[in-house]
Amino acid sequence: MLKWYDLIERKSDEKVIKKGLIIYMLFVSIFLNFAIEPPVLARENQDFYLHENQVVSSEHYINKEVQTRFNHHLKTVIEIVQTRSYPINNQIQKYIEQVYNLFVSYNEKIPILIKDSNPSYLTIRAKIHRISEDVVSLEYTHQIYVSNHFRDYHKDNFVLFLNNDAMFRSEYLFDKSKISDEFYEKTKEKISFINNSTKIDDSMVDEFINDAHIIFREEAVIFYSIKNIHQEVKIPYYYSVSAINPALSHQVVIHNPHSKKIAITFDDGPTRHTRLVLDLLDKYNAKATFFLLGLQVEKYPDVVLEIANRGHEIGNHSYNHKRFTAISTSDVLFQINHTNQLIAEIIGRSPNLLRPPYGIADNRIKSLTNMQFVNWNIDSLDWKTRNTRKIIHQVISTTKNNGIILMHDLYPATIDALEPLLINLQDQGYEFVSVSKLTDY
Ligand code: ZN
Repeated sequence: MLKWYDLIERKSDEKVIKKGLIIYMLFVSIFLNFAIEPPVLARENQDFYLHENQVVSSEHYINKEVQTRFNHHLKTVIEIVQTRSYPINNQIQKYIEQVYNLFVSYNEKIPILIKDSNPSYLTIRAKIHRISEDVVSLEYTHQIYVSNHFRDYHKDNFVLFLNNDAMFRSEYLFDKSKISDEFYEKTKEKISFINNSTKIDDSMVDEFINDAHIIFREEAVIFYSIKNIHQEVKIPYYYSVSAINPALSHQVVIHNPHSKKIAITFDDGPTRHTRLVLDLLDKYNAKATFFLLGLQVEKYPDVVLEIANRGHEIGNHSYNHKRFTAISTSDVLFQINHTNQLIAEIIGRSPNLLRPPYGIADNRIKSLTNMQFVNWNIDSLDWKTRNTRKIIHQVISTTKNNGIILMHDLYPATIDALEPLLINLQDQGYEFVSVSKLTDY
């Protein structure tokens, strides 16, 4: 059976051989002075070849690399996470290998004729959540399609202790028997909300908790159920700290969820007004989220850097505001990826949040990216009224805890409304946070 790590070895061998061949051929062609076919290695004899290898993100000593490989009827897209710890990298490699072997074993059972007309796919995707400087939560999701039929979907979650070269499954760091009553009630509340039902009894909650996988994110622990159609429940660390292994519990940041929070978001920038917005936000100790257009990023790269340096969050709002549902998949991918790239070139990391233009995205769009889609639930209607008084009234009359406000750092009326709004909301006890610091989003 072909091993996953063989692929890596093979790739480097192939590169060396190819390089040698090219140099040799060049040498010969110069001397003989006639055209020579470029060297082609016999692909047929190889099980797989590397199609693309791309570093997609690199932050705090953690690299994420996407490797795409093909052979006649198999395609794999694997995201490889590499940390500064070699023992951890080895464990990650072993994990990927296990999933890969599972994929191959499914395929071995398929008759050749069927294989040829129906390709099989494996995707292994990674999400990284930083818990503290040295502790990282890693969320791996794999999907397997064999001969175009869905076979397997699974999440595996790990916590990496970079300083100790240690990697554990998340389940190992969470003791379900030690959850607090508050945690239990919160879970029940959220299951009721997801199911849109008030008739959730304790046995359903128990079952959910028992089946749930554990994912540690920056601000909360996630209970994720595969049985109940991928339901997930997010519980702030504040409620769950009693159940978290002490090795981890003093690494998590615990926010009191009883304080009121609100996230102001600015779309369509950066613009010539953005610096003024940043000054006002600083004045009221407010953090915000800016969903940027790639086109504007190209115009104001120094403003983009300033947004990041002043502690605000940056999200992607497409390249030039095309409606995603009206354009082709490759155009959508351009809108997303090119903008991520432009931002990453300036601030050194790619955004995690995506707000599609007009807030519109269907399942086709959502399946194209790993990014988190974020819309809003408080619309300032500034794009419609362009009137300072109306913007203030609209926001104040619809504001709620954990809300996400939609504004645009594009209209002078919005800029004029910002300071009165900051004063009013601060008086009401709101703390202004970036979107990903909200308890739910
Ligand atoms: Zn917009």
